[in-house]
Amino acid sequence: MKKITIALDGFSSTGKSTLAKQIAKELGYVYVDTGAMYRGITYYAMQHQLVSEQYLDKEGLIAQLPQIKLQFKFNPALGFAEMYVNEVNIEQAIRTIEVSRLVSKIAEISEVRAKLVEQQQQMGKDKGIVMDGRDIGTIVFPDAELKIFMTASSKTRAQRRFEELVEKGQHVSFEEVLQNVEERDYIDTHRADSPLVKAHDAIEIDNSVMTKQEQFDVVMDLVQQKLYN
Ligand code: C5P
Repeated sequence: MKKITIALDGFSSTGKSTLAKQIAKELGYVYVDTGAMYRGITYYAMQHQLVSEQYLDKEGLIAQLPQIKLQFKFNPALGFAEMYVNEVNIEQAIRTIEVSRLVSKIAEISEVRAKLVEQQQQMGKDKGIVMDGRDIGTIVFPDAELKIFMTASSKTRAQRRFEELVEKGQHVSFEEVLQNVEERDYIDTHRADSPLVKAHDAIEIDNSVMTKQEQFDVVMDLVQQKLYN
């Protein structure tokens, strides 16, 4: 059967990764969470004192980029791939609010973006992929057969992220999470290199009041149209 590329972009905490994982599983496609890659570089930069709330050693990070090896390794027990940096599993470590606070600062650096975009394009060269991020339909795969752009109100998104973090045992307040979501929206949509914008041919889905099943059904309908038309 014909294989396509599915690009899923949108704001933070719109549930892109949950949806992308469901779609990939249904189709037997590869799923790639590009946010995890930007988080991986951020985590490395934090570990090497290259970034903090007050500080960014951009040149230092650029110089070290060639020695940062990011890999996804499939974990059969979990049913999805986990992120590794230089052979260390950092899947849990990259999901903290500390990484979320710094990641958009790192994602603004063009050299970081170039490295990750190249790796992403390589992963998708045979199609049969669902990739989520901010620039997948615009920069990584401008020719993707199906492009989805996900939105929801910032309060809805912060509430979802807050519940996720609390469930993982992290101590955060709702206000702190809302502020982080809004800050990342601002930086992601205003940066000079590859800002978050809806591709002209992307289909927008606002899932503020949709269930996971409803959004899955909507996207699967769109996938079927692309596969059989
Ligand atoms: O998707 P997630 O929230 O994990 O992404 C973390 C951050 O990584 C985003 O806020 C954004 O700054 C950056 N990012 C990006 N381009 C992508 C994916 C993520 O700039 N394709």
